[in-house]
Amino acid sequence: MSRLVAVSNRIPLGDNPSGGLVVALQDALRTSGGLWVGFSGETVEDPAEALAFHEGAAFQRASFDLTPQDHDEYYLGYSNSVLWPVCHGRADLMRILPEYLDGYRRVNERIARLLAPHLREGDRIWIHDYQLFPLAGELRKLGVRGPIGHFLHIPFPGPADCATLPNPPELFEWLSHYDLLGFQAQRDLDNFAASARSLTDAEQVSDHDFRIADRHIRAGVFPIGIDADSFVAEAEGAREEDRMRSLTGSQMMIGVDRLDYSKGIPQRFRAFQYLLENDPSLTEQVMLLQIAPPTRESVEAYQQIREETEHLAGRINGQFATVNWTPIRFIHRPIPRNELAGLYRQSRVGLVTPLADGMNLVAKEYVAAQNAADPGVLILSRFAGAAEAMTEALIINPHDPWELAQAMQQAIAMPLDERRDRHAALLRGVVEQDVGWWSATYLRALAQAPG
Ligand code: UDP
Repeated sequence: MSRLVAVSNRIPLGDNPSGGLVVALQDALRTSGGLWVGFSGETVEDPAEALAFHEGAAFQRASFDLTPQDHDEYYLGYSNSVLWPVCHGRADLMRILPEYLDGYRRVNERIARLLAPHLREGDRIWIHDYQLFPLAGELRKLGVRGPIGHFLHIPFPGPADCATLPNPPELFEWLSHYDLLGFQAQRDLDNFAASARSLTDAEQVSDHDFRIADRHIRAGVFPIGIDADSFVAEAEGAREEDRMRSLTGSQMMIGVDRLDYSKGIPQRFRAFQYLLENDPSLTEQVMLLQIAPPTRESVEAYQQIREETEHLAGRINGQFATVNWTPIRFIHRPIPRNELAGLYRQSRVGLVTPLADGMNLVAKEYVAAQNAADPGVLILSRFAGAAEAMTEALIINPHDPWELAQAMQQAIAMPLDERRDRHAALLRGVVEQDVGWWSATYLRALAQAPG
């Protein structure tokens, strides 16, 4: 079997790394004697012009450092202040500085230069996410000819959003060097096709085949999954946390999201406010636990969403709290995965209400963690990639607080039979299309893509 080389923005270092992408790639990397390359997370003034290799995993791992300037321009800048907002339908939050695009191109060119000497004839290369769009083209310039695939973990923008980028045609030029483009949802493939046709002279040859700048590119939908078996085991083994005892008697609704403006947390809080305003009998009967660890804090839009969220939680708590009850508990710290599994399991309602999201793994984790005999209810935004397959959830429009409040009410009151039926159907999908299925399906398609 030919060797797999995976490249992602961050590489998990340390012994026995875990996490979704690690589990997804580990088998394929191990069995093919593969290599994973990514940013170490370290910024230094004078980074080495060679990859650093790391022991401690069942496959080869190699990392590179970035300068603080590279990190500002490539990562915080073009990746997270231009591409991220545009891909999540928030062009209004985009911040365009000319050095961002220069830094993005420069870092991708450097990664190609560091990686190329380690590549061999016959390698399959799998590049992940929006930070690395130009990497295939840069590798091709250095003479790399084998199959190169890309998987986009976030949504692909439609023509109106794509047109707000400083360089729409260049985006498609970058993508044209891949043999296979993988998307999370049909919605993303449709957006890619529509944007390519409207902003370039690309030709769509079939549902999945495109001709851009004389190159043949295949594109497909590969919804990412979770390591379902291990999540089920984790949730079953979770200890009841002592501090949860105080909650006995009130139903818990849980939200778990990085504190990102795409996650719809203020909209969720407002819907909860409407729920409490409209049904005073819920006083002391229901609480919302929101776990929202910080992310990208030096980007201004993230400082704003933090202020907005904290302010709103404070206002709603001030309005409704009693001496025995705080309606919203807001935790602005990361919670380890094994603890999350237990919290999901104790929550009657899982709130996954992003305004835009590639997939949203929390939706799948919440389902996997439930007790099948007495499961909770998933409320899911129609704008999460997960909504395409998880149709037995209560699917809502997160922009409409009335609709969301109503779904909360329905979820809290849902009879056991209905909860079981919905959960069984959702769990089947989560287990069948797990992360192993995802990587195997993608890599099979890469092997078959016309080069
Ligand atoms: N997560 C975690 N601790 C936290 C919050 C989140 O481990 O305090 C994990 C969560 O379990 C999930 C991932 O972070 O696996 C978030 O993935 P998702 O696709 O939902 O959103 P993303 O952060 O990638 O936009």
